[in-house]
Order: sequence, then structure tokens, then C-alpha cells
Amino acid sequence: MRKIKAKIAEIFKSIQGEGIYQGVSQVFLRFYGCNLNCKFCDTHLDFYQEMDLEEVLERIFSFDNYHSISLTGGEPLLQLDFLEEVLCFLKTKKKIIYLETNGILFENLKRIIDFVDIIAMDFKLPSSTGERDFWREHKKFLEIALKKEVFVKAVVCGSTEIKDILTSIAIIKEMASSIFFVLQPQHPFEDTVEEKLKLYQKICLEEGIKSKVIAQLHKFLGIK
Ligand code: SF4
Repeated sequence: MRKIKAKIAEIFKSIQGEGIYQGVSQVFLRFYGCNLNCKFCDTHLDFYQEMDLEEVLERIFSFDNYHSISLTGGEPLLQLDFLEEVLCFLKTKKKIIYLETNGILFENLKRIIDFVDIIAMDFKLPSSTGERDFWREHKKFLEIALKKEVFVKAVVCGSTEIKDILTSIAIIKEMASSIFFVLQPQHPFEDTVEEKLKLYQKICLEEGIKSKVIAQLHKFLGIK
């Protein structure tokens, strides 16, 4: 039988630097390649290794004492066949699976949702990313992600426009107002970001949406 191989950028243990699980210990399985090109992207990967299931598992199981395994990238959902294979195995070992995703490839999420425990989903605000909007995809993605624990994160930078925050809030209210909305300032901060964060958080409060401003811890600690 043909062995499925994945393009893996790195596998390492560290501290989760973003979102509501910030600070927990994780093993990171970083997939190479992305379907977007966000202007604030800090994971420009130029190296990968082709690895099969055995090689990836051997590396993951060389670590112990961690909260969960983070599937990150790039965009992990692009390498679906491999993802399905590795997650199927990790679930038999009762590992907690944490998926970090740009929240666009909803059809791919459908195939692996049963293996995932926590989903850290980005809303890609067009005014922040420089890309087109993905509201339709984000809604469909969230519909599926809601079968599991999910929170939404959006990067706030100098170019972020309030209309994108209002659309994000409207989607969260429509889908499930219990979802946490994480406002993540781009690192390093631009001058106007502080005022934006205060304003966006005020709007979230007024709209009954749970929000938190959470900066990237790993950038402050100078770790991966
Ligand atoms: S989705 Fe994430 S990995 Fe892909 S370009 Fe945007 S920030 Fe970078």
C-alpha cells in the first residue's frame, strides 16, 4: 500500500502563544503550505521535510507531559489525507487535538471534525490580511466547528477597519453568541492599534459578545 507523505515544516514542543489556551504546553505539528498570503503572516516557511505517518508519530511520541497536540501551519487542512491518517491514530492514544486554522476549508474540516477537540479558528478580516473576504466560508466553517469547542481570533493591525469587526460580531451572534472572540494585536504594535482594540472591545461588550485582547506570548518570550 502507498504510504501517504506530508510536507512537515517542524515538530516541536513549546508553549501555546495565542488565543484562550495561551500558556498551555503543546506539541506543535506544523504543516507546510497555505492557501492564503496574509500581509501580516509571520510563518513564511521555506523548508519542509516529506514525512510518513511512522516518522511523524515517532517524533510526536518523543515528547511527553503536554496538554494537547496543536495542528498548525501554514494551513493543516490542506494536507487532508495525511491529516486523517495521523488523527485517526492519535485518537486511539486519547490525545487532545487542537486545530489552528484559517477557517476557510469547511469541506475538509467535515472529514476530520470527529478527531478534533478544540478549534482555534481565524476570521480573516480583509482589511487586515489584504486578501478578499471569506465571510461565506467562515460561516460554513463555524457551522461544522460548533460540534466541538471553538473560539474565533482576528488579527488587529493599523489597517483593520471597523466594518470587518462588525461583520465578525454579526456572524458570531448569528451562529452562537457564546463563542469567544479574541482580538489579537499584530506584533510589533502599530500606534493606532491600542485605540482600535479599546473601541472593538467596547462594541463586543455592547453586543453581548465575549471578547479578550490577547497578544502573542511567544513573541514576548522570544520562543517558537
Ligand atoms: S493563513 Fe496563517 S499561515 Fe496562511 S498566510 Fe495567513 S497568517 Fe500565514
